Amino acid sequence: MKFIRFTANSTTYKGTIEGREIKEIIGDIFGVWEYTGKTFDKNDVKLLAPLEPNQIIGIGANFVSKVEELPKELPEIPVFFFKPTSSVIGPEEDIIIPGGIKEIKFESELAVIIGKEAKNISENDVLDYVFGYTVGNDVTAPQFFHEAGHWTIGKSFDTFTPLGPVIETELDPSEVIVEARLDGVEKQNSSTELMIVPIRKMISYLSKVMTLKQGDVILTGSPVGAEFVGAGSIIECEIKGIGTLKNTFAAVRESQLNR
Ligand code: MG
Repeated sequence: MKFIRFTANSTTYKGTIEGREIKEIIGDIFGVWEYTGKTFDKNDVKLLAPLEPNQIIGIGANFVSKVEELPKELPEIPVFFFKPTSSVIGPEEDIIIPGGIKEIKFESELAVIIGKEAKNISENDVLDYVFGYTVGNDVTAPQFFHEAGHWTIGKSFDTFTPLGPVIETELDPSEVIVEARLDGVEKQNSSTELMIVPIRKMISYLSKVMTLKQGDVILTGSPVGAEFVGAGSIIECEIKGIGTLKNTFAAVRESQLNR
């Protein structure tokens, strides 16, 4: 099942999508919902981020380039960071490069959406708490990383977390390929088998620290190949089975700077 949020005629809707056919739903995608009977054509709507996350947690530096490079021992404390929910944008929206810098980085990632409260869960049980998956772009301005190692500011600018195009509830996250194309040229293409901290382990670990809640989004790390890009470039993050998340990088406008 593929869930979306979208606007049509200035109204925001939730729905399911199959091919081009969108069926409006009402209710709670995590709980009770039903079809209204109203349908839309994908070409007549604007897709939004498929959910408004409760919180967004990312894992840092989580991919190697080949299986032989996977470390024998996992880090005792993986590098996690939070991104503000105000940084979320949907497909086709512009990613705004902050004032004072010319380039920022894209990071195509599998985003896991938590479906129910999770505390102290075992690795074996993790997938029971997952509602579905979308594609995330963990946009990053390393120029704003603090010299003491804190990433928060460089991850937090408005527009720095594109999500979409859909939430796919039926996906095996252990064997998907995370891809990115910049202006049509492939830059990232790795299987989730190349994750240093696998999904079950990272979510189990997090749940032992904090209670994960419905609507939490976990960005599971980006394959090797992310690079700096400037205004005008188009980034397409893709996971087959979910879809392609396309956004354009744009320079901040003076009017936005002075506000
Ligand atoms: Mg990342």
